[in-house]
Amino acid sequence: MSTTTGTGRLAVLGGPPAFPDGLPLVRPTIEDVPGLAARLTAVLATGLLTNGPRVRELEERLADRLDVGHVVAVGSCTAGLMLAYQALGVRGPVVLPSFTFAASAHAVHWAGGTPTFAEARESDLTLDPVDAAGVLGRLAAEGRPAAALSATHVYGTPAQTEALAELAAEHGIPLVYDAAHALGSARAGRAVGGFGTVEVFSLSPTKVMSAGEGGIVATEDAELARAVRIGRDYGNPGSYDCEFPGINARMSELHATMALFSLEHLDARVARRNELVEVFRAELDGVPGVRIVDPGRGDVSTRKDLTLVVDAQPYGLNAAQLARVLRAEGVDSRHYYAPPIHRQQAYAGLPSGGVPSDGLPSDGGQQRALPVTDRLASQVISPPLWSHMDDEVARRVARLVVEAGGQATAVREALVEVPG
Ligand SMILES: *Cc1c(COP(=O)(O)O)cnc(C)c1O
Repeated sequence: MSTTTGTGRLAVLGGPPAFPDGLPLVRPTIEDVPGLAARLTAVLATGLLTNGPRVRELEERLADRLDVGHVVAVGSCTAGLMLAYQALGVRGPVVLPSFTFAASAHAVHWAGGTPTFAEARESDLTLDPVDAAGVLGRLAAEGRPAAALSATHVYGTPAQTEALAELAAEHGIPLVYDAAHALGSARAGRAVGGFGTVEVFSLSPTKVMSAGEGGIVATEDAELARAVRIGRDYGNPGSYDCEFPGINARMSELHATMALFSLEHLDARVARRNELVEVFRAELDGVPGVRIVDPGRGDVSTRKDLTLVVDAQPYGLNAAQLARVLRAEGVDSRHYYAPPIHRQQAYAGLPSGGVPSDGLPSDGGQQRALPVTDRLASQVISPPLWSHMDDEVARRVARLVVEAGGQATAVREALVEVPG
């Protein structure tokens, strides 16, 4: 690790980069590599490599922790969402945010539904229940009622669970949470995992709790849990007389072992990430036009990402310019989520931002503008964050953000001279 450059010249202005060896967006945290390796070796020695006792132990521990009736471990969050939507039999529009990861919409499409997008909330970037209500009402009025409502706990920030539950109940439709970021989050003291009809977590490497790859489906609905359990095994209930066309979405014993290891460290990781956010916040204090996306009062976020919303007017630079400043310093960053899903090739230009699934009627409306989502997508930037990051690294990155804003005029001029 290089030494602190203090208030030295920014790299875009000709100074030496703050992180000459580069600072990646994410580094997976493995607290005890030899300890984990020993557990993996023990699994290999059993010769039982998938769908065995480790998977069952993981499911039991999580059902206990999340206080939900049924937990099914699957190969990925995407597969878990696909199987949940398949089990729910979604046909027609599924209302969900555009400001989320693409897999939220892909799963709807794969299960035969039509992703239909609603706006994000300005304050915390989760699904806006008011806008979603408008979309659901419009669909109902058009005689094409929505088949489901879905929200994402973006960055680990719990969504507006009460308002969304009311909305889903009012329309008599299931409520599906993409909880990919939120294993370890809580809303008003209650663990995320028990809200809505079903919540689906991801254990992929960029998430706070990781198994390398993996997903977790949590629900109180025994029938839904059974369908996902069978669905992850091709639809085979054990008799090889498949009940429906499922997929292979099993979790291996090795992945379950990693997940169990990761689960033991989850609370410490979440606590540490929240500490790092405070280190970052202390440096940013008083910088105009840059805010950290925070969970609601009384809620806990995993801080899967440390995301800033940058308002170019007072700050002096937009999020894209800030990303270039950071890149020159060796610091990686991402614009989560830009482009938002309705702007992506897979979905753009299609009616109502919804891609008709094969054999299903087109959703027939006009592409709906999502101005809040578009603006937020242009304003967000997530600098690096990982659970074993040192305070000093967070502090230095935050100082670069402060410095870039303080020298915005010179930085803008420098960036014009070097396009890219
Ligand atoms: C990572 C992620 C997914 C996909 O998870 P996988 O386990 O990789 O399938 C889905 N939704 C969101 C919001 C994600 O961030």
